[in-house]
Amino acid sequence: MSAWGGPGGPCGEHHDTDCSEVLERVFFFIDHELPTADTAEIQHHLDECAPCLQKYDLERTVKALVARSCAEHAPAGLREKVLLRIRQVQVEITEVTEVTEIPGD
Ligand SMILES: [Zn+2]
Repeated sequence: MSAWGGPGGPCGEHHDTDCSEVLERVFFFIDHELPTADTAEIQHHLDECAPCLQKYDLERTVKALVARSCAEHAPAGLREKVLLRIRQVQVEITEVTEVTEIPGD
């Protein structure tokens, strides 16, 4: 019996669920639109995979911001601060993901 079927994620570690699968479903996870079994699977992955947890936090932040800006207008300064923070997190995630690439010489 082998639970470790797929390749490792961006962090180079092995998980029950592949990182790409988790990131595909993280939108539904945030919206609570997944069956209970899938929710537990993704929650478990986020607990042990920092890159995916960062991505999840980012999506959740964007969603919360969008939801709030529909209800009321956030001050321009605050909005810029949040957008700047989102860009920083995206750069961090990109750097983590690209570590596995072979540098051209
Ligand atoms: Zn992951």
